[in-house]
Amino acid sequence: MARYNGPSCRLCRDQGTKLFLKGDRCYSEKCGVVKRNCKPGIHGKRRSKISDYGVQLKEKQKVKNIYGILEKQFYLYYEKASQIKGVTGEILLQLLERRLDNVVYRMGVLSSRTEARQWVLHGHITVNGRKVNIPSYLLKSGDIVEIKEKSKQLPRIKEILDSDSSRPCPEWMEFNSQERKGTFRVLPERHQLDSSINEQLIVEFYSR
Ligand code: SF4
Repeated sequence: MARYNGPSCRLCRDQGTKLFLKGDRCYSEKCGVVKRNCKPGIHGKRRSKISDYGVQLKEKQKVKNIYGILEKQFYLYYEKASQIKGVTGEILLQLLERRLDNVVYRMGVLSSRTEARQWVLHGHITVNGRKVNIPSYLLKSGDIVEIKEKSKQLPRIKEILDSDSSRPCPEWMEFNSQERKGTFRVLPERHQLDSSINEQLIVEFYSR
């Protein structure tokens, strides 16, 4: 399935907000949104009125890009969320948070989901002691995520693990920095997740 291979900063500029897709660069002066806060393209500086549909579409695109998911797969997450009892928007976000690449990113060692996805794809990650190389693998409460013992010796991984730049782990996870081991404790509640996301707009977009 084709993936978006264009510039990540273009996605942020199109949204008019930081989506934090490029790790450390996103926190620096080099960030595309900081340098050029207008839409990409020659008409980028034009102001245009946006319809309700446009607002909903934009929110859906934003979340899809944050988690690095393609259109069809994102829709399948929505379908799945709508079949589970509860608030669809919240369940949708919980499903996205349960993805293995996201959980590896949340462990705080890596600076972007893209990098976390690569680690999973390259087989550096285990779940409950077994190698899993599927970024969309959904974790459940109590699952333990580790970096494979052999992979810890690879120079690039060793360098990242030895650096002091880790981010704090969210409340719904535990991370043992000595053993480089993360535990997906419980499903996150809505108030613990990104408050800039309006998931209701996504639900409205799909229920048109
Ligand atoms: Fe987005 Fe990061 Fe690029 Fe800034 S540096 S525009 S946050 S991807």
